[in-house]
Amino acid sequence: MSSYDYDLFVIGAGSGGVRAARMSAGYGARVAIAEDRYLGGTCVNVGCVPKKLFVYASHYSEDFENAAGFGWSVGSATFDWNRLVEHKNTEIRRLNGVYERLLMNAGVNLITGRATIIDPHTVSINGDNYSAERILVATGGWPVVPDIPGKEHVITSNEAFYLDSLPKRAIIVGGGYIAVEFAGIFNGLGVETTLVYRGPLFMRGFDDDLREVLADEIRKKGIRLEFDTNVDRIEKDGDQYIVHLSNNEAGSLQPGPMSADLVMYATGRQPLTAGLGLEAIGVELNWNGAVIVNDDYQTSVPSIYALGDVTHRFNLTPVATAEGTIFARNLYGNFSERVSYDDIPTCVFSQPNLGTVGVTETEAREKYGAIDVYKTGFKPMKHTMTGSDERTFMKLLVDKETDRVIGVHMIGPDAGEIIQGMAIAIKAGASKAQFDATIGIHPTSAEEFVTMRDPA
Ligand code: FAD
Repeated sequence: MSSYDYDLFVIGAGSGGVRAARMSAGYGARVAIAEDRYLGGTCVNVGCVPKKLFVYASHYSEDFENAAGFGWSVGSATFDWNRLVEHKNTEIRRLNGVYERLLMNAGVNLITGRATIIDPHTVSINGDNYSAERILVATGGWPVVPDIPGKEHVITSNEAFYLDSLPKRAIIVGGGYIAVEFAGIFNGLGVETTLVYRGPLFMRGFDDDLREVLADEIRKKGIRLEFDTNVDRIEKDGDQYIVHLSNNEAGSLQPGPMSADLVMYATGRQPLTAGLGLEAIGVELNWNGAVIVNDDYQTSVPSIYALGDVTHRFNLTPVATAEGTIFARNLYGNFSERVSYDDIPTCVFSQPNLGTVGVTETEAREKYGAIDVYKTGFKPMKHTMTGSDERTFMKLLVDKETDRVIGVHMIGPDAGEIIQGMAIAIKAGASKAQFDATIGIHPTSAEEFVTMRDPA
């Protein structure tokens, strides 16, 4: 047994930290974990979980409308924001408890408070020092708001989950998935919603067809999209905010002020390393504060490790938990494994959903040269009766030389659920011939993925 208080000291009880802590303890390591805000981290408290609950809530307005096409009269529906937040908070508290029990049952010592690292083997919390053979930094990330005049008037996704009341008009600034998902949430709950993005088209990094189709679908839902537009400053005017906008050359908006009751910034997140004490002891960080690690999640100081969002690579919960698993198995379970970062599937819980796995068409052309592209767009069966003009879009990319399917993309209801299954096929290296030989499930949208015969 080592002379340290613990074999492993984990800082941050989020997705990655909790997984690493309890699995390491399961292999017999003496483990402590520090958490200063909320058990379960971002995902459980101000990320994936409450976000998805809000997405469910916001979809009902459309569902009530659609129900009429199937003979239902719903009457006049009303919505109570405070009830939604209260119910969401109850569920989050339940999950906090689940996380606490997971740690306790695994024999992990939970210490509440803000941790700082004093030397390569010592962590300090609330004035107490704890020594450990290894320290794992799993402190996640935090929203960044650019320095614009009036930034004190804006909220981020953190606060959006706890608003006292729902605004009548909201402006969301940003072009990534959090901006798009919140635009859908607010719009579905009846808020007049505008999304402002400085570039020509949002969702950078996704397949271009998906980006364009999603913009069309979102506009159809009534969200105002203002691309090529910058926020110059924000002023408070009584209960409302005046957002001063200007255009890039291509912008379509008349530059000038726009008023709103809420301005939310979703302009990115940065690793939460400030004040941790990492640089002082020689841990190398990136330009944006991300901890630099090798393939074993080890930093430039050998006893200090890092994983999850604090390394700012994929910033997804299943990636953080996969890293936590491999970290524990390799260091305490005698395994020698690596997380496979290829073909990570993702879903944007926009309305409709966007699901994707594998390369985009642009990446495919660069990487594989000759490819076949299969696309289809259609009105989903349900909407033949609802009057909704929502359309579903699907796309397959195939490497011509090997016939392997290298990208599967979709916009439509339940795209996340469908693409999860497709991801297994991609991971298994399925060929287009195997897709074609698979019998469809009828009638579904997903069956289109096995019936696309002619390249576009
Ligand atoms: P976190 O979960 O952020 O955990 C870090 C923990 O460390 C926190 O609890 C923090 O309080 C604690 N901490 C930090 N510093 C200290 C310190 N000094 N001392 C003690 N404790 C400390 N991912 C998905 O896969 N799907 C989604 O749908 C999705 N939706 C999201 C929606 C939003 C709005 C946001 C913001 C994120 C979303 N994510 C989603 C991303 C996901 O939440 C993160 O990738 C994931 O939580 C990262 O886990 P982590 O363990 O690295 O960090």
